[in-house]
Amino acid sequence: MSVPFLDLKAAYDELAERAEPAMLRALRSGWYILGPEVEAFEEAFARYCGVSHAIGVANGLDALRLALMAVEIGPGDKVLVPSNTYVATWLAVSQCGATPVPVEPDPATYNITAEGIRAAMQPGVKAVIPVHLYGQPADMTAICAVAQELELKVIEDAAQAHGATWNGKRIGGHGDIICWSFYPGKNLGAVGDAGGITTNDPALADRLRMLRNYGSQEKYRNDYAGLNSRLDPVQATFLSVKLDVLDEWNSRRAKVAEAYLDGLAGPDLILPQIASGATSAWHLFVIRHPRRDALAQRLADAGIQTLIHYPIPPHAQKAYADQALTDQELPLATQLAREVLSLPIGPHLSEPHSFQVISTVNEILHDM
Ligand SMILES: *Cc1c(COP(=O)(O)O)cnc(C)c1O
Repeated sequence: MSVPFLDLKAAYDELAERAEPAMLRALRSGWYILGPEVEAFEEAFARYCGVSHAIGVANGLDALRLALMAVEIGPGDKVLVPSNTYVATWLAVSQCGATPVPVEPDPATYNITAEGIRAAMQPGVKAVIPVHLYGQPADMTAICAVAQELELKVIEDAAQAHGATWNGKRIGGHGDIICWSFYPGKNLGAVGDAGGITTNDPALADRLRMLRNYGSQEKYRNDYAGLNSRLDPVQATFLSVKLDVLDEWNSRRAKVAEAYLDGLAGPDLILPQIASGATSAWHLFVIRHPRRDALAQRLADAGIQTLIHYPIPPHAQKAYADQALTDQELPLATQLAREVLSLPIGPHLSEPHSFQVISTVNEILHDM
């Protein structure tokens, strides 16, 4: 019995009966850019997040770029980013002409902290991008407090945290601007590229709506040098259908995570730790082991698919060679890249499959 990392086909099949008439309606409407389907999803997603504004955009990377543009980050500015995030967080900063400044994470939660922000602070830093990594929210109470004190804008990278909560409140409105990816593999995934932005600030919302649409509100009048980065209406109809099942699907993920947390055990194994105040969306279930590569190989031999999030930290990518950041300067990001392993998790991972993962991991660990 082989265990896939994530079964997107099963996810589609479960929604097809509801989603296909909606997508057909969008296709047959004759309206293909922005419009009523996009607005309906934006309203539903804002309501879901408990915020006043949601703006649909083309993908998660653009959401971050647009957020930085909206708070006027540009050449000469610096932005604090986690040292252990997906490279998109860094790329968004670079593409605005600003410099990403890494913050090492908390070794238990893998998220950045207020203390980390303080320690990494330097002249020229204008904003911070906390990432709710693997689905677990960062400590937004402490981060927003330190950001206010240091006069930093807070842009959240919530690409992995749809439905996660911090202190009982859904992610989506703690910081100034919150950025979402609806990439197919995300908890709220589309059937192609898609992204979104949420905020409670009406002025920022107005500016973001223009920035995603050539910097224009009125056709052929451009107030900003914006992007063409709009959520596609067909994707919006699919996302509206999927939003209705997000909580239920997240609770299926949580059940898998609970079984893993109860059942996985072995020498040198480190399990995920969820901070008090946080509920995770369980986008990923990431374990650590000093002999990660050997473990991954033996799991693959046993038919269990795993992935690594992420094998090379941003500072060590060729794209960032010019910043000359060394592994010694960022020891935690470097160590995590060597030790992390993501086990299969998703709303369609069956109970027998999750028990198979547990027994296989435990067997391998005991004879490594
Ligand atoms: C997926 C992801 C992104 C980028 O989203 P895309 O829609 O693929 O552009 C950004 N940040 C994080 C943490 C992600 O996981």
